[in-house]
Amino acid sequence: MTKTVCVYCGSRKGDDERFAAAADALAAAICARGMRLVYGGGHVGLMGVVADGVLRRGGEVIGVIPQAMMRKEVAHEGLTELHVTADMHERKAMMAARADAFVAMPGGLGTLEELFETWTWLQLRYHDKPIGMLNVDGYFDGLLAFLDGAVARGFVSPDHRALLQADDDPTALLARLL
Ligand code: AMP
Repeated sequence: MTKTVCVYCGSRKGDDERFAAAADALAAAICARGMRLVYGGGHVGLMGVVADGVLRRGGEVIGVIPQAMMRKEVAHEGLTELHVTADMHERKAMMAARADAFVAMPGGLGTLEELFETWTWLQLRYHDKPIGMLNVDGYFDGLLAFLDGAVARGFVSPDHRALLQADDDPTALLARLL
């Protein structure tokens, strides 16, 4: 059965072309493995790059966007499926339900919130789907160091910390997840 990967990533492209290049490389890796993409449905930033990258290679892309964000994120009009939800909670629930695994790429507060919600739900065993982080150009190094500190200070268990798999190579990352 076709596996679906949920990608959380920035609605901006960051300050370096390497981020967009990595989003396209992730799209290539998803297609090479015959996987489907589910994401936030926007056409802006890295979100648009990863969606376009999968579509250009003939893959399937499912977008899930809240009604109120349709204009702000410029909903992608060429997707295989676009679902418009009543609110952000419904969006996140639908993205998670469709996914077999999650990958966070560089992004801002929305990306971090989605990553941490998915991770805490795995910690609580609300789901058992693997979570990866594509650490492009060391973008997440500071966050990963903070998390190791949180383990050292006794607030995060080593087992829960280990649930997040970080890699700078999208092919290797997907192979570790599914
Ligand atoms: P950002 O990483 O802030 O560029 O946002 C990336 C994605 O996260 C976009 O699709 C946003 O709509 C989404 N997002 C922003 N804020 C939230 C939030 N509080 N909860 C869930 N998703 C969000």
